[in-house]
Amino acid sequence: MKKKGKLIIFSGPSGVGKSTVRQEVFKHPELNLKYSISMTTREPREGEVNGVDYFFVTPAEFKKAIQNGELLEYAEFVGNYYGTPKAYVEKLLNQGYNVVLEIEVVGATQVMQAMDDYISIFLVPPTIEELENRIRNRRSEPEEIIQKRLNKAKVEMDLKNNYHFVVINTSIEQAEKEIVEIIKKAQEK
Ligand code: 5GP
Repeated sequence: MKKKGKLIIFSGPSGVGKSTVRQEVFKHPELNLKYSISMTTREPREGEVNGVDYFFVTPAEFKKAIQNGELLEYAEFVGNYYGTPKAYVEKLLNQGYNVVLEIEVVGATQVMQAMDDYISIFLVPPTIEELENRIRNRRSEPEEIIQKRLNKAKVEMDLKNNYHFVVINTSIEQAEKEIVEIIKKAQEK
């Protein structure tokens, strides 16, 4: 029988560069990774594709998924809901893939409580100023949302020690390298 894959929780404050680093890590086929596509009620950003970046749904559809017990975890984040469809993750784990959940801290805590076999990684910015620059340079959100995301980032940073590994995003290459090593070691166990 094929060995079950590892669940990898990947968190970090909004704007830290999680998806950029994740895309680099996914260029390593030997890590046998699959990305868990979340469901969200947020509007798509420019360039985001339904079914690739997220499943974009209405609040009513999201509520239904909660009621039907379809989500492994979910959380509200700056006015929108985000959640992980459970069946897809379980299917991939059973097929032997290592599955990456790129999720915020509240949902991550739910997964840590529900599952016993996972590794958790928290990506931090070199400085808070750097994070603010990154969120602003994205130019996709109004000032009010930027402020909310920044305040949230400070709260999230305080929870980094709940994770097995804290990686500083000094550069994309460095963060990629560290995360690749973490996953390789976890795979050997
Ligand atoms: P964004 O709106 O910037 O795409 O995502 C906002 C935050 O929600 C990010 O920290 C992102 O990682 C997190 N997020 C994305 N999908 C999920 C999910 O399925 N569950 C939870 N709990 N957080 C998610």
